[in-house]
Amino acid sequence: MATTTYEPVIGLEVHAQLKTETKMFCGCSTRFGEPPNTQVCPVCLGLPGSLPVPNALAFEFALKAALALHCEIAGFTKFDRKNYYYPDLPKNYQISQYDLPFSKKGYLDIAVEGVTKRIGITRIHLEEDAGKLVHSDGSSGVDLNRTGTPLL
Ligand SMILES: [Zn+2]
Repeated sequence: MATTTYEPVIGLEVHAQLKTETKMFCGCSTRFGEPPNTQVCPVCLGLPGSLPVPNALAFEFALKAALALHCEIAGFTKFDRKNYYYPDLPKNYQISQYDLPFSKKGYLDIAVEGVTKRIGITRIHLEEDAGKLVHSDGSSGVDLNRTGTPLL
C-alpha cells in the first residue's frame, strides 16, 4: 500500500495598525477612546464629492516595514475599491490594494530550535479599517471613529 505524505502549507493574513495620528485618507484623528462618531469627516464617511488623499506618513511607515522584510518595492502602485456591504462601513467599499500592491516577495527569517526558517511574505499592502459595531443593553449602534484608520 502506497504511503501519501503531506506538506502543511499555512497562510496568514495579518493586519497591523500604523501608528499615525491621522487616518489613511483624511486628516481625522486616530485617537482611541473618544466619544462615538466625533472623529469623522466627509472623506472617511464616503460622502459624495469627497476625495481621499493618502497619508504620507502611513506610506513611509509601510515602506519601512516592507524594506525591513526584504520586499521588492514596486515602481508603480495604486489603490482599489473593495466593494462590500457591512453595517460599519458607510461607504460600502474599503480602499485597499488589489493587483498592484506597493511591495511583494519578501521574507522573515526566524529561529526554530536552533535552525533558521525562512517565512515567505507574499505581499504587503496598505488599506483602511472599517468602523465598529457596539452592542449593549439590547440595542446596537455604530462608531465610525475607527473608519479609515491605516492598516498594513
Ligand atoms: Zn475623516
